[in-house]
Amino acid sequence: MKKLMAANWKMFKTWEEARQTARELVVAVGSSLPGDREVLLIPPFTALRGVVEMLAGEDGYFLGGQNFYPEVQGAFTGEISPDQLLDAGCTYALVGHSERRHVLGEKDDFLARKVVFGLEKGLKIILCIGEKIEERKEGRIQEVLTRQLEMGLEKTDKDVPAMDLVVAYEPVWAIGTGETAELEDISHAHGFIRSRLKEMLSQGDQVRILYGGSVKPDNCQSIIGLDNVDGVLVGGASLKADSFSQIVLA
Ligand code: PEP
Repeated sequence: MKKLMAANWKMFKTWEEARQTARELVVAVGSSLPGDREVLLIPPFTALRGVVEMLAGEDGYFLGGQNFYPEVQGAFTGEISPDQLLDAGCTYALVGHSERRHVLGEKDDFLARKVVFGLEKGLKIILCIGEKIEERKEGRIQEVLTRQLEMGLEKTDKDVPAMDLVVAYEPVWAIGTGETAELEDISHAHGFIRSRLKEMLSQGDQVRILYGGSVKPDNCQSIIGLDNVDGVLVGGASLKADSFSQIVLA
């Protein structure tokens, strides 16, 4: 199973800045990208086409969208469709990033529609899940992860090919805060997610599970070495080619 090293650039970077970072990253990683790693860049929509040009001809690099709306087309001002993401060169798309859930109010039933629709349209889906700090303090991590997985995948065929689906475990309190979960906590959460995926999906043992939450060059290696950690989803430390290249090669 190849490790997926994903960079979420959120609402940062102009077209030219995104192209430059992608170019610098490809140069910094050079021919050292191990065959068992994939790099995924998830820039803002306006930079998708510009970034994909920088990745042309580079093995192991992919493009992703941060979000989409689960309809073919129509009067959905401000939204983007899976076909438009595919047309821009995307292979992957995020669904249910914590900022979509908690800042923009997206709920599990809506996210379930996105997962199944995006898959039907041919995108590989990264379903993001994770508990808030109060849920953690109340000892409800497993309850929250179970709900987000069960509801998020409610409409998805249990025979979905493992390579089309990725789950990202991102404890909300660790995103953009500089606070990383302890290795033991990451291990427990990923082991738990793996066991639930095995129960829910016929290829649940092979669905990749990423960790996200203040991953940096100095903590990436120990995180990526844990069982059931099949890659990372990185925000802040992915904005500069220098730090993200160190993460990619960790
Ligand atoms: C994210 O955006 O998914 C994320 C994990 O951000 P950061 O690495 O900055 O915590």
